[in-house]
Amino acid sequence: MDNQKIITVTSPLLPGLEEFNEVLKEIWASKWITNNGRFHKLLEKELAAYLRVPYISLFTNGTLPLIIALQALRISGEVITTPYSFVATTHSLWWNGIKPVFVDIDPTTGNIDPNKIEAAITPKTTAIMPVHVYGKPCDIQHIQEIADKYGLKVIYDAAHAFGVETNGTSILNAGDMSTLSFHATKVYNTIEGGALVVHDEVTKKRIDYLKNFGFAGETEIVAPGINSKIDEMRAAYGLLNLKQVDVAIEARHQVAIRYRNALRNVSGISFFDDMPGVKHNYSYFPIFINADEYGIARDELYFKMREQNVMGRRYFYPLISTFTTYRGLPSAAPENLPEAHKMADSVICLPMHHALSEKDVERVLNCIIN
Ligand SMILES: *Cc1c(COP(=O)(O)O)cnc(C)c1O
Repeated sequence: MDNQKIITVTSPLLPGLEEFNEVLKEIWASKWITNNGRFHKLLEKELAAYLRVPYISLFTNGTLPLIIALQALRISGEVITTPYSFVATTHSLWWNGIKPVFVDIDPTTGNIDPNKIEAAITPKTTAIMPVHVYGKPCDIQHIQEIADKYGLKVIYDAAHAFGVETNGTSILNAGDMSTLSFHATKVYNTIEGGALVVHDEVTKKRIDYLKNFGFAGETEIVAPGINSKIDEMRAAYGLLNLKQVDVAIEARHQVAIRYRNALRNVSGISFFDDMPGVKHNYSYFPIFINADEYGIARDELYFKMREQNVMGRRYFYPLISTFTTYRGLPSAAPENLPEAHKMADSVICLPMHHALSEKDVERVLNCIIN
């Protein structure tokens, strides 16, 4: 038995080393290693085609596009967002001096509950920042209706939603802008990396100024920009990974099918099914433990899994609203966020990646079913 091998929650999709070596030789020969080089341009073009979005700007990680989207749209005052996410979502508001206003989630999706957004709007509200958590699409129509009614911008943190489509349309076309993360732990990675998806050429140009110190030419600075350029090595790596990401997503899909088949009738364990009309990316496989029905509490199962070297993760526990920076905000009060607390207290994300073997999946399931 190779029960000792650690099964991690994810494993990075890596290009073939020899293939990568070949492109490195080309970069070395050209001596053009960053600043909108050949591979950078090519990756932007290929990603836009793959994701079926009109304009995309590459970034050095998935946090800076959030910060820059807020800058580009001149968002200020208060922004309505979800506590059920990775901390970067809310931190991007803090870095812009914006007050986050937390709204509870819809327990059927884990995403911000649009029915609760209007009650959180004040005269200072300027935007909504939802997250397609686990890559499950938000109710983009309802959110847009509210935004239009109150004149608000919508910036989607789509870090989990690489390649996700609803009825044949990329989810990244929703709202005013959407951000992606290409971190090593994500479905598609450039080691570190990210992107901002916008809908028109003028906005893309503005974003490209902002991520390059505000340079609009050799001597002209049009804004207090920052540096968030991705280099040629990671752009080339990203091009190689793009060629194999579909295969990786299909491998994840097969893991999801096995998990669902095995867990469907386990009392006290629930999970999300595919949504009708949605092309999913299987970025995460969260399960939710009802301790009364399952017999043991979430943390007990979590640590039991760890003892078997099965490393689930409790994404997203603790909630962002409980961290010291944010817990004093009125909207962070637990009474305001009961569904988010319930989900954060019951979740374990099971190992989910392209390289899990049938035996690995069996080992994960054996920890849960007995
Ligand atoms: C990963 C992630 C980010 C940030 O991405 P980095 O590339 O690590 O900076 C932002 N939001 C969410 C929801 C994420 O999961």
